[in-house]
Amino acid sequence: MKKYIIFLLASLLILLFFFSSESGKSILVNISHKSDSLKNYREVKKAEVIEMKYQINKHDSEWEKELTPEQYKVLRERGTEQQFSGKFYKNHETGDYICAACGNLLFKSDTKYNSGSGWPSYWEPAADSSVVLVEDNSFGMTRTEVICARCGSHLGHVFDDGPNPTGKRYCINSISMEFDKDTAKKGK
Ligand code: FE
Repeated sequence: MKKYIIFLLASLLILLFFFSSESGKSILVNISHKSDSLKNYREVKKAEVIEMKYQINKHDSEWEKELTPEQYKVLRERGTEQQFSGKFYKNHETGDYICAACGNLLFKSDTKYNSGSGWPSYWEPAADSSVVLVEDNSFGMTRTEVICARCGSHLGHVFDDGPNPTGKRYCINSISMEFDKDTAKKGK
C-alpha cells in the first residue's frame, strides 16, 4: 500500500513539473524581419504571446462562419495544405498577396520565387509590420511560424535557406491568401 502512495505522489510531482514548465516556457518573437540572426528576437513568455492583441480579434465561431472548412483548418488551426496543391504555387502574375482571413497585405509578387518546395515562397514580407514570427516547437522540430500581424492567423513558416538579398524563405500556404492582381502592370 505504501508503495502505491509513493508511486502516486511521484506521478503527481512529475505532472506538476511538466505543466508548470510548459506554461512558463519562453518563446521568441521577431521584431525585425530583415535580421540574419536571432539577435533581433525578443524573448517573451508563452502566455504573453497568447494574449497578444491583434487589430482583428474574432471568436473561433465567427472565423468558422466566415472561412471555408479548408481555410479554417490552416488559418485558425495551424494546418498545412498539401504540397504542390496550392492555387498560388505556380502563380507568376504581378500583384499583392493578402490575408484570406482579414485582407492584410502580406507579400508582393516581386519577392516571390520558385523554391521547389511545393508551396508559394517569398524572400521578404511586404512590410516588417505585415507578419509576426513565433518560434514553433510542434512535431518535434524547431521552426519559425509566420502569422498575420493583423488577425493572428497562421500563414506558414520561414526558413534560412532562401535567396539573396535576405536569405529567407517564407513558405506560405496558398489557402491562407488571396491574390490582388495589379491590373496597371498587366501584360508587362
Ligand atoms: Fe489576417
